[in-house]
Amino acid sequence: MNSTESNTTDVDESRLEKYFDPDTLDTEPTLVGSECPECGTIQFPSRERCPECFETMQRRALSRTGTLYTYATVGMGPSGFSPPYTIGYVDLPDGIRLFTTITDDEELEIGREMEVTTGTVSVDDGVAIKGYQFRPAEGDV
Ligand SMILES: [Zn+2]
Repeated sequence: MNSTESNTTDVDESRLEKYFDPDTLDTEPTLVGSECPECGTIQFPSRERCPECFETMQRRALSRTGTLYTYATVGMGPSGFSPPYTIGYVDLPDGIRLFTTITDDEELEIGREMEVTTGTVSVDDGVAIKGYQFRPAEGDV
């Protein structure tokens, strides 16, 4: 891949393939974690072995929506992030609390329903890194 210092058109989508069910990316992007058939532990990102009982885990689609647990707008950021940007935790009904960047963050409130989407989460050496983000769910009041 050709890259120059001012070139920000390169895109790295490897995280999309790692975190999402690829068949859902064009329609309703769905994160994939793993579930232990033995003890029910759910993990994201997905893992081969259950961290609790070492059973082989099975891939499992996660809920596309969750509840905003907390958030913060960051005024300074490490290289690759352009402040201000918003980060937070979203609780999925699957029992997972995800750390995430948040887009469309004008009207956030703790407890609000959020939905997963894809977006540029950072820029590394001119390469836009695509990953998961959350935004307020449409139709939430
Ligand atoms: Zn287990």
